Amino acid sequence: MHNAAFRALGLHWHYLALPVDPRDLSVAVAGLRALGFAGFNVTIPHKIAMLPLMDELSEDAVAIGAVNTVVIRDGRLTGHNTDAYGFLTTLEASGFAPAGRQALVLGAGGAARAVVYALARAGTVVRLWNRTPERASRLVADLAPHLAGASVAALPGDGAALAGALSKADLVVNATSVGMKGGPAGSPLPAGLLLRPDMTVFDLVYTPPLTPLLRQARAARARPVGGLGMLVRQGARAFTLWTSIEPSVEVMERAARRALGRR
Ligand code: NAP
Repeated sequence: MHNAAFRALGLHWHYLALPVDPRDLSVAVAGLRALGFAGFNVTIPHKIAMLPLMDELSEDAVAIGAVNTVVIRDGRLTGHNTDAYGFLTTLEASGFAPAGRQALVLGAGGAARAVVYALARAGTVVRLWNRTPERASRLVADLAPHLAGASVAALPGDGAALAGALSKADLVVNATSVGMKGGPAGSPLPAGLLLRPDMTVFDLVYTPPLTPLLRQARAARARPVGGLGMLVRQGARAFTLWTSIEPSVEVMERAARRALGRR
């Protein structure tokens, strides 16, 4: 999707995918700097390990505790996190206005950190539920210093707390890997819990396009939002950080769909 955006703008830039063994991370980063790269993205499993390798960090990267985009300028490395931006702009593009609304977020990994941070900063009341409740509590405690005045709470692991939060939610977000192709099968929402037509249901998983949770949302006549838009918009934000140019989200999304074998 980056190469499609470069072509559409007539920029002679190139985006490459370079697998790196975790043991070689710091030499790989030094190599990219030495070779004159303008920047790079970082994905699993390097997002957290990247933090100490940066000269500077953006506010989002510090709060979320992970780097997914690096800008190299004058030999200095600045680490950013564009996942929160990608999530929020996709949510807003779907027609959901987050201020003053109630959200139930499922999961407590790296993606959930970005989602909770984005929603809380946008003025949403956030309830967080995770299979391992201690991880949800830790996430809320870690983000608290960066979210003064926000309403964010971790729920206990029992079904009653989850059902209570769901009954009040305007928005349900799946930030677990449940439903992802090759990941745990099924829906992240335990059986018996019902979605409503007035809800927006955002699944970060983008393969398959119609996840079990999004099927449930459709059946309940709720508004389903898939994860591809977030993937594209976090990438578009990274593109702007490197080039200072706003790319066409449509061009990037078309290329991403093609790469994933979709129309
Ligand atoms: P992660 O750090 O590994 O976290 C995984 C989360 O899933 C944890 O909360 C984990 O719960 C939960 N989980 C895993 N298996 C489960 C199961 N069988 N039942 C219930 N919960 C389970 O992963 P991540 O980086 O946060 O990514 C999560 C998902 O978001 C992935 O599918 C990823 O592809 C997607 N994502 C999408 C975008 C996008 O742009 N659309 C961006 C980032 C991530 P425990 O804590 O109990 O283990």
